[in-house]
Formats: sequence, C-alpha cells, structure tokens
Amino acid sequence: MAFETVIIPIKRKSRVLHKAQFGCLSDIYSINITRGCSFRCVYCYARAYPNAPAAGEVYLYENIAQQVARELDSPRRRSPVDWVVFNTASDSFQAHPTILKIAYKTMEALLERGVGISFLTKGWIPDRFLELFKNYPRLVSASIGLVSLSGCYKEAFEPGAAQPTDRLKNIERLSAIGINASVRIDPIIPFLTDTEAEMGHLMRELRTRGVKKVVLSYLHLRPAIINQLAREISSTQFKLLSSCFETQPWIRVGTSTKSKLVPLAFRNKGYERFKAISKQLGMVAVVCGCKNPDMPARICTERKTGARGRDEEGRQLSLFQC
Ligand code: SF4
Repeated sequence: MAFETVIIPIKRKSRVLHKAQFGCLSDIYSINITRGCSFRCVYCYARAYPNAPAAGEVYLYENIAQQVARELDSPRRRSPVDWVVFNTASDSFQAHPTILKIAYKTMEALLERGVGISFLTKGWIPDRFLELFKNYPRLVSASIGLVSLSGCYKEAFEPGAAQPTDRLKNIERLSAIGINASVRIDPIIPFLTDTEAEMGHLMRELRTRGVKKVVLSYLHLRPAIINQLAREISSTQFKLLSSCFETQPWIRVGTSTKSKLVPLAFRNKGYERFKAISKQLGMVAVVCGCKNPDMPARICTERKTGARGRDEEGRQLSLFQC
C-alpha cells in the first residue's frame, strides 16, 4: 500500500555523534537520518515518542553528513569513533530520493574515515550503496528485519516497508559483495508469524541464501503501541493479540518502564520451535536479551574487545537495533 509521506528538511544543530544508552546498544554511537519513518510499522515504538512527527510527516536532517564529517575531523574530539549504528529509531533506506541521498553521503563520510557502520533495515538497499559497501566489506555490518514472508502480514503490519522478497534479495546482494547479513525476526507476532509452517518457510528461505544466524524476539506492548495497533490492524487481529497480553503485568523492558511481554511459557515454546528449525538447518537462533529480561537470553550485540569494531579473529561485529 502506498502512503503519502511529506518530507520536511531540517538542520541538525546539536551534536550528531552521541552514544545510545539502551539495551544492546549501550555506549555505541548511533545515527538516525530522519525523525519519523515512512515505513509506518504498526508496532513501532518510535512512532509514540513525544517528539515523533505527525502521521505522514518525516523530518530529514539534511546537513547530517556534513555535521558528521565535521565532528569526526574536529581536532577537539577526545574519544575516537570506531563504529556507528544507524536506524535505532528510523530507517536509512526509506524509498525517498532525498533521504537516500543524505543516508548515502553520511555513510560515505564515515566509511571514508575508517569508521565502521552497522544497520538494521526493512527497506530496499539501492545498488549505489552496495557499490559503496563493496569497497569497505570489513567496515559494514548489515542486518535485515524480516518476520514473515507473507504479503498479507507485510501489508497489515509494515505497510511502507519493502516487500519480503526484496528483503531476501538484499541478503543475496549483500552476500555477493562479501557481506553476510544477519536477520532479525522481531517482533514475532503470536498466533500469526510463529506457526510451524510460517517459521519453517522463512527459515528455509533464509538458509538457502546463506544466512547463518537469526535474532529472535516476540512483540512486546507499551501503552502507545496498544493504541496504534487498535487503530491500524483489524479488530479480529487486535482481539487475538490483546488476549495474549491480558493477564500480563506491566514491567520494565529496556528503556520502557511500562511494557507487557507475551507470557513466558508461550514465548519459550515459540523460541524453542525456532531453535529446533534452525538447528535442523544448521543455523543459530539467538533470543534478544534486552527484550526478554525475564529469561536466560543473551545480549544480541556481539561486542567483544577489538579495534575498529572487529572481534578477536578480525570478523566484523554485528550490532542490532532493539
Ligand atoms: S522501520 Fe523501524 S523505525 Fe521505521 S516504522 Fe518500522 S519499526 Fe519504526
């Protein structure tokens, strides 16, 4: 479904390079090219931020590439920047020419200066980005957000994002230039995307494309997300989803002090199903620790010590939005 989005260019006046302070991304520099996101995922918590733009509006930081270059080149910079994660509250690959132009320039400014970049996207990555990344395969860590291959799911839950088939193509195209993308299966929607058939279909398609690792997390609800869902998905779907959370208490999840998780036993069963399928296929499935604080899960950010965002064996670290 096509959505009318108005892009509003604004100048970024404050410092761009600052560290995120939540969950998997604590103490990592993060950048968002826009405030607001035209993909309009119905479960998106960033849409409910107090400073989120009105529906249909996206603010674009048109000077962000120059700002980043200036900050990196500043002789007054005290701490080095090795690694920057994009898209903690937006997506650099929103299908708008000016957003893509600014995203490209910003990533180029970082890579040219030897700074690694990591991104999670539900968009289509244009060829020119791949041409850029090809020159810096060890400095680019990519993760593709993909929960289901169903077109109906995509239309209902991620209406502005790229088609699932295009996201699979992103994985292939990244692999062709030497970048092995991870896949984030988040948020898993109870009763909808966690059936044996859905999971098996998705995991087999990922395995065919050489994906070795997936990160899992079920949907969690915050008050504002409940309102979004009530407005934007069918009443039948909403009733079914709500029933899953009815008896659950509000707890702290990440930076949110008021969230509801899918019941632990239910989540455990779902994750075990994913893990069993992954094992059969020779893949690894990891549960995101930030979004599952009540179970033995791990931080999905593979941070180890090492220079320039690499682990001890020189492999590129993988950072995920949570
Ligand atoms: S792609 Fe990410 S930032 Fe954009 S609407 Fe979806 S969840 Fe929100």
